[in-house]
Amino acid sequence: MSLFSDVPLAAPVAVFKLTADFREDPAPNKVNLGVGAYRTDEGKPWVLPVVRKVEKMIAEDDSLNHEYLPILGLPEFRSSASKLALGEDSPAIKEKRVGAVQCLGGTGALKIGAEFLRRWYNGNNNTKTPVYVSTPTWENHNGVFANAGFEDIRPYKYWDAQKRGLDLSGFLGDLESAPEHSVFVLHACAHNPTGTDPTQDEWKQIAEVMKRRSLYPFFDSAYQGFASGNLEKDAWAVRFFVSQGFEIFCAQSFSKNFGLYNERVGNLTVVAKDGDSLNRVLSQLEKIVRITWSNPPSQGARLVAITLTTPELFDEWKGNVKTMADRVLLMRAELKAKLLSLGTPGTWEHITQQIGMFSFTGLNPKQVEYLVKEKHIYLMASGRINMCGLTTKNIDYVAESIHEAVTRVQ
Ligand code: PMP
Repeated sequence: MSLFSDVPLAAPVAVFKLTADFREDPAPNKVNLGVGAYRTDEGKPWVLPVVRKVEKMIAEDDSLNHEYLPILGLPEFRSSASKLALGEDSPAIKEKRVGAVQCLGGTGALKIGAEFLRRWYNGNNNTKTPVYVSTPTWENHNGVFANAGFEDIRPYKYWDAQKRGLDLSGFLGDLESAPEHSVFVLHACAHNPTGTDPTQDEWKQIAEVMKRRSLYPFFDSAYQGFASGNLEKDAWAVRFFVSQGFEIFCAQSFSKNFGLYNERVGNLTVVAKDGDSLNRVLSQLEKIVRITWSNPPSQGARLVAITLTTPELFDEWKGNVKTMADRVLLMRAELKAKLLSLGTPGTWEHITQQIGMFSFTGLNPKQVEYLVKEKHIYLMASGRINMCGLTTKNIDYVAESIHEAVTRVQ
C-alpha cells in the first residue's frame, strides 16, 4: 500500500491537455488553435533571428561562466526590462524609485509579487485583502493568487458577450464597489483571452476610479509588442498609471515577444513612491525569492539584456516582433474576409477589432466540441483561438469548418 494511495488525481491543465490530444490525433488535416505560442506560416515554432544571433554571441563569450546570479537576478536584465515597460525617459526611473526582480517567466513575476502583497500590503499577512481578476481571464491568475494565500479572489466585469467588446460600465461599477485597497490584476495589453483592451480614454476612466478609491494596480504584461506591433504603444496603460502617481507592480513576460517560452524569462517591475520605500520592498522581495527558487537562471536573462541594451540588436528585435504581430493581423483579416464571403451567420467584426495573439470567437461550447470532434480543429472550450495557429494553408479549412459549426450547431 503506497503512502500516496489517497492522493486524488488532479485534472490536467486544459491548454496542455488540448495540445496532447492534438498530438495524438492522426488526422492529416488537424489544426491546433489552442496553444499560446507563436507559429510561422508553416505552423512551426519560431526562434527569433535576433535570439539566434545573441545565443551565438553568448556561446562564444569566454568571459561568461555559470556562477550563481544575485538573488534578485541579472542587474542589466532587470533595469533594461523595466525601461522597456516604463519608457526610456520615465521620470520614475530618473527619480530612482523603480526596481525589479528577475523571475521565472511572467508566472514567476506574478507569484513573487503576490507573495509580497500578501505578506506586506494592506496590513501584514492580510489574507483577506480582495484580489480582483477580470471575467474572463488567464485561468492561472486565480490559482497564483490563491496559492500565495489570498482567500478572497473576486471577478470583475470585463467582457460583454452581447456586443463582443469591453463592458466598461460593468468594470467601472466593480471598481466603485470594491473595498478600498483591493488589488486589481490588470492586463497591460492584448487581454488574454478576449483580445480586447480598454482604449486610452477608457484607461483614464479606470485610473481615475482606482486612484479615488485607493485600489492597487498589479499589471500583467505578457504581450508587449504583440498587441499593436509597437512596444511603446503597448506600454501606454502602464506608463499612464505611473504618470498618475500610482505605486505599481508590473509582471513582465518575455516568453512571447522574445519567443523564449522554455527559458522562463520574466521581470517584476516595482514602482514605489520614493527610493527608500523601494529599497525596503526589494529587501523583502529578496527574502521571498531566496525561499522560492533562491536565484534565477541566466541564459534567457542574458539574451534579453544583451538585445535590449545593444542599439542594433534592439532594432532587429523590434523588427522580429513586428513580423509576428503583422502575421497575426494578416490572419485576422483573412479569417474575417473568408467568414464574410461564406455568409457565416453572426457578426465577425470582432475578429479584426480584437488584438494580440488570441481571438475570442464567440463560438459556444457545443460548436467548439463540433470543431474538435468532427473537424480535428483544437481550440479552448471558451471559444478562444490562437491566431498564430492559422496559416495560409489551413485558413480555408478552418473558415469553412467554423461556418459549418455555426450553421449546424446552435
Ligand atoms: N499572463 C498572461 C495573461 C499570459 O497569457 C501568460 C502566458 N500564457 C502569462 C502571464 C505567463 O507567461 P509565462 O509563460 O512567461 O510565465
